[in-house]
Amino acid sequence: MPELPEVEVVRAGLERHVAGRVITSVDVLHPRAIRRHVPGADDFAGRLAGVKITAARRRGKYLWLDLADGEAMLAHLGMSGQMLVQPASAPDEKHLRVRVRFADAGPELRFVDQRTFGGLALDELVDVDGTLVPASVAHVGRDPMDPLFDLAAAVAALRGKRTEVKRALLDQTLVSGIGNIYADEALWRARLHGTRPTERLTRAQGELVLTAATEVMADALGAGGTSFDALYVNVNGESGYFERSLAVYGRAGEPCRRCGALIRREAFTNRSSYFCPRCQRRPRRSPMAR
Ligand SMILES: [Zn+2]
Repeated sequence: MPELPEVEVVRAGLERHVAGRVITSVDVLHPRAIRRHVPGADDFAGRLAGVKITAARRRGKYLWLDLADGEAMLAHLGMSGQMLVQPASAPDEKHLRVRVRFADAGPELRFVDQRTFGGLALDELVDVDGTLVPASVAHVGRDPMDPLFDLAAAVAALRGKRTEVKRALLDQTLVSGIGNIYADEALWRARLHGTRPTERLTRAQGELVLTAATEVMADALGAGGTSFDALYVNVNGESGYFERSLAVYGRAGEPCRRCGALIRREAFTNRSSYFCPRCQRRPRRSPMAR
């Protein structure tokens, strides 16, 4: 799954290449790609014809286009979804699912998705704390890259949870945009083990781990955000551009960059957690054992 920095790269590309343009027609080439749009393909295409895209937005890992009619076009990238901006003369991609044409006869917007876990849908925009977001994103908390992100409020919410700190970091209603990789990296930077009970974190530890999450995502964005200047907006979840600078994620058995102890991997839900056993001491008793 693409993480926040990858989604931000796509958003910035869409802002540059499709914001301000008026849609003339939409072809839905595979019904699965719009299965989240319950009224169906004809409704989807009909409502978009003649409508202007005003902006490309993101909250956490959620991506959408603001439309001048007060709706939003949500783009779920899933495992393999790509938003491509292509000249009309370019041959159709093998897994092209939706084509959007514009009144200026310029490049098309194409949704390409090999595995069809992703898709597009229209949704109404609603006001949440002074910001317009699609109704289906209303429950998602602001991400740490959001200028209106409130660190103190997020720390208070984190410490108010009765769970483990890694689970809380991944809870998109609390703080959005932190995925498995960035959670592990932030915990390593903050020297916290992921199973630490949130209610026993100090305010300083809460600030440290959320600030670390912000920094690690900003670093990833800095590493990947400059390589997308072409007329080609792409995400495939296999970015790789940030991997060289990861401190723990994917480094089981390799030395910790801070203390030299060997990084450990352990099962976490259906994924893995990576941590340094020396820098990130496991709490004496897991809250799950109560
Ligand atoms: Zn270490």
